[in-house]
Parts: sequence; C-alpha cells; structure tokens
Amino acid sequence: MKLLTYEIDGKERIGVLNDEETWVYPASAAEIEYRNMKEFIREAGESEMEMLDCIRRRPPYEVPGAAPIGDIKILAPIPVPDQDVICLGINYAAHAEESARFKKEAFRKDTERQAVYFSKRVNRAVDPEGGISAHRDLTSQLDYEAELVVVIKKDAVNVKREEVKDYIFGYTIMNDVSAREVQTGHKQWYFGKSLDNFTPLGPWIATVDSIPFPPKQAIRSRVNGELRQNSNTELFLSSIEDVIVELSQGMTLKAGTLIATGTPAGVGMGFDPPKFLNVGDVVECEIEGIGVLKNTVVE
Ligand code: MG
Repeated sequence: MKLLTYEIDGKERIGVLNDEETWVYPASAAEIEYRNMKEFIREAGESEMEMLDCIRRRPPYEVPGAAPIGDIKILAPIPVPDQDVICLGINYAAHAEESARFKKEAFRKDTERQAVYFSKRVNRAVDPEGGISAHRDLTSQLDYEAELVVVIKKDAVNVKREEVKDYIFGYTIMNDVSAREVQTGHKQWYFGKSLDNFTPLGPWIATVDSIPFPPKQAIRSRVNGELRQNSNTELFLSSIEDVIVELSQGMTLKAGTLIATGTPAGVGMGFDPPKFLNVGDVVECEIEGIGVLKNTVVE
C-alpha cells in the first residue's frame, strides 16, 4: 500500500493510491481524519491501515473525494519532519571506494565495522517534481545521492533484532543532495548536506508490508535520462536491523523519524572527471517497489 501527502483545492491531505496507481483516495473516504502524515503515523492503528487497504481496491466512483493522480499536486510524504534526518554515510562498498578516490581524508572510514552516522537538516522537504536549489554562491560541486529511507512507526527504545520490522512504518526515497566542497571543507558533513531545498523526498511511502523484509530492492538514479547509479539495497554495509538496534540502544527513535540508508556508487564525484549537477538538470531516483522521485535543479 502506498500512502501519500497531496494538495488539492489548496488543501493538504493524506491519502492512498489505488491499486493501479492512477487515482488517489483521501484517507477521509475511510473516515480517517488526521491533520497530516506525522499524526497518522503516530496515532493510526491496525484497523485504520486495514480500512485504507480495503478502499484502495475499490473503483474510484465508489470513493468520495477520489481524484485522478494528474489532478493533484503530490507533496513530500512528510513535508516538514519533526527532526533532522538520520543519515548513513559510506554504506555501500563501491561508494566507499569512489568517495575515497575523490577525497581520501574526508571519506575515510576508520573501521570497517562501524556505521557512519550524520544528520541532515530539513526545514522543508522538496516535493516530488519540486526544485533542488543550486546554491551557486556556495557550491560548484552539486551532487545527487539516491537513498532508501526508513520511516519509524513508533517510539523505538532498545529494539531487539527480531523486532525491528515492527518499528518500521514504511519506506520512501530521498535524494541526499550534497554540496561537495562544503561537505568536505568542514570536519563534519552537516552544513554541506543541509542547505535549503537539498532534500527531495517521496513520491510516497510504501508501507512496510508491501516490500519483503529486509528490502532487497533495485536502486537507481538517472541524470537527464543517463543512468548513473544502479545497485541493490541488499548491499548495505550496515543493515536496517544493525542501524535500528544500535541507535535505539541509547537514543529513542521517535515515531516519524526518517533514516536515510546511504547511497550506492555512481554519484557525480565518483566519475573522472566528476559529473556534478547544473541548473536545468533533471535527477530521477528510483527504488523498486516504491517509485521514482524526480526533481529539477533550479537557480
Ligand atoms: Mg547520503
């Protein structure tokens, strides 16, 4: 099941895609009334998920408020996250190699076994089809990173490995846009990852049960139609279980937390010469079983 945040008649709503992914049905059609996706994730129970799963199979003429997908504006599924996104760096071996080739001292991983965590500020996520700001005053090394994002369902503390799936609401796609010289010019990556309009998110959330666990999904990116990244999420160095077990030992992961699981090889800095982004470039990030997140670089 795919849940989305969208705008119609100037109002933000949450809804579910129908089976054919051609219509959007508002959650209100199943008498589910939450202000936004964050509240839905926190408050909704199994019965509400089942109701949505039920209505999405109906024909549109039976669903009040149904709208063809072309008639709505799809927003980032969580447009304003409550907290920074938790990110993994260097979580695919081939990306570790290309990053070290680009700038060894900035991307060295101290031990093979420890995950690299950093955080990314998101004042507002970029909507699907929305613009990535080029920030040309700050960077001439604008780069893309297709990533699988895990959305936490309920507050997670001391999670056991076999229970990890119970804490996951679903998955979405993020483009971890990065200004490389800002990222590597400081000891911490935070600033270079956190500029305004650097976090395209979406196009929607695929619920945890819609993808076998742990996810072994093809992950790709394209720039102006040219395939750049082409890998699979089974190649994570630190798995989703590793990450949630480790972080929840000492840090409550609140419902609605976004964890970006790192990007595979094929980012712009990995090419020789590098292929950084320019204004007008169209970046597509695709994950099997979720969809395609498409954004254009703007001034
Ligand atoms: Mg990243």
